[in-house]
Amino acid sequence: MPGTSRMPISLREGFNNARKRTRAGNPLALGVLNLDLIRNLVFFLFLLRWARRALWKLKGRGLLGTLLEVYLDLRRILYGYFLRLPGVRTTVRKQVDEAVSKLQSKLVPGTGTTRYLTLPKEGWDRDAVRKELETLASMDHTRWEDGYVSGAVYHGEDDLLQLQTEAYGKFTVANPIHPDVFPGVRKMEAEVVAMVLGLFNAPHGAAGVSTSGGTESILMACLSARQKAYFERGVTEPEMILPETAHVAFRKAGEYFKIKIHLVACPAPSYQVDTRRVGRLINSNTVLLVGSAPNFPHGIIDDISSLSKLALKKKIPLHVDCCLGSFLVPFLDKAGFESQPFDFRLKGVTSISCDTHKYGFAPKGNSTVLYRTQALRQYQYYVDPAWSGGVYASPGIAGSRPGALIAACWASLMSVGEAGYLESCTQIVGTTKKLIEHIQSHPILSTELEILGNPLVSVIAFKSKTLNIYDIADGMSAKGWHLNALQNPPAIHVALTLPIVKVWEKLAADLESVVEAEQEKERALVAEGKKAKGKSQQGDAAALYGVAGSLPNKSVVVELATGFLDILYKA
Ligand SMILES: *Cc1c(COP(=O)(O)O)cnc(C)c1O
Repeated sequence: MPGTSRMPISLREGFNNARKRTRAGNPLALGVLNLDLIRNLVFFLFLLRWARRALWKLKGRGLLGTLLEVYLDLRRILYGYFLRLPGVRTTVRKQVDEAVSKLQSKLVPGTGTTRYLTLPKEGWDRDAVRKELETLASMDHTRWEDGYVSGAVYHGEDDLLQLQTEAYGKFTVANPIHPDVFPGVRKMEAEVVAMVLGLFNAPHGAAGVSTSGGTESILMACLSARQKAYFERGVTEPEMILPETAHVAFRKAGEYFKIKIHLVACPAPSYQVDTRRVGRLINSNTVLLVGSAPNFPHGIIDDISSLSKLALKKKIPLHVDCCLGSFLVPFLDKAGFESQPFDFRLKGVTSISCDTHKYGFAPKGNSTVLYRTQALRQYQYYVDPAWSGGVYASPGIAGSRPGALIAACWASLMSVGEAGYLESCTQIVGTTKKLIEHIQSHPILSTELEILGNPLVSVIAFKSKTLNIYDIADGMSAKGWHLNALQNPPAIHVALTLPIVKVWEKLAADLESVVEAEQEKERALVAEGKKAKGKSQQGDAAALYGVAGSLPNKSVVVELATGFLDILYKA
């Protein structure tokens, strides 16, 4: 018995005795038998788990859907191997590098600017800093000031900007992590949340927090739902069910917080999420359902009433993303526009995200997430009672936060007021309706463009019936417009804001001339008998989405996008 030679005598004796007893069919034999039993049990549980997952999959996607998923996965994996073949790899690498350097020359001006890569030896005097700031602010850019940018700047009028800057100036050093040092900031933050809760008809006992933006609001709502399911139901493999059109921040939450994502189609003609399919995907690991009011890509409000019923029936939380709808959707009714139920008046809605920095007109870096109960809010808190730095408690991801931004948000809400938001809703949604009507009644636009679904708020998405919609997007870019390219299906959208309201007729006119020009090109090509357009004619959107749309494996697009992010930090 080599292994026992170094054992202390007493132990060795015990061991030997045990061996003797085993041979005699004594208690340890039972131990060996138990081990077999446990092994079988573990195997059985493994099988059970696997079978349960397979069943869930079949129930959720159907046999055909499951087979289709397997096929698409296989295709993606095989194409991934293909891309890694030595020859292919070098060609792809070269093309990606070329595209990235082209992008860099566009985004990072080379000659004619001084680059500051180290601290100045002596600090500049103030006038020098001011002068340089002026130069930076007036760098050549897409003109949001003239209404040429979809979304991005929602108000932009001087009087509000000035007030925000004053509010910011008064609270530059403030940090809500020290409520005793900055009591005014604590008060303003609580009041902002209270005002937004009121807008969304929150019931008694509801609660909320402010965050740095819509993405953080969504991350927090997902975290809260995950923690709730873990602590109340012991769910260790959380899943959530998203409309395909839900904001990408939910997918980010899935990645950050290890929540499995199920995407559900939002089919034509309504482009709302298919609630029946959502229902089929629910299982005991589901921690959250999601709907948008409205979604970013198409500006469509999902059927929140049906989702709410489903959530109540299955006893699962439901998040409604009103980040974009923000201060427009709560005013649709009052402004006399068609609306749909979306807020806490639907009993199944447990949380709502609302961006004060979109149609709430607060400066960027402001958003809120609202919960039906305080308990739900507490699931997003982080508390550590034992840290050597002291007992630590923070409501969300950030530790220190800019009190100045909260002050500027509070100032915006107070100065615009209910009447102001009602008026902007009337203007923005009213203009959106005019643009929709214009497109649908115009002899050329109506035959060429198809608006997706029935957008009730401020975003209009459209696809083209015969042309490449990305060529239209590039044509609009050439005229100075910044619209958003969408995919699945290929489309573009415009999110109307106060600056765009003033120039919507110019937008319509430019759209018309771009569509006409594209139709003309198409006719000329057909006359020449060429089917495919030369690559040299392609604009950026057409080039990117032409590639992205045709690839079974999007790793090349990931490389391009990663290169883009790297460029942002090119000093
Ligand atoms: C803008 C937006 C968000 C959040 O985006 P942030 O850029 O993080 O503020 C979330 N959902 C929708 C529908 C949005 O449009």
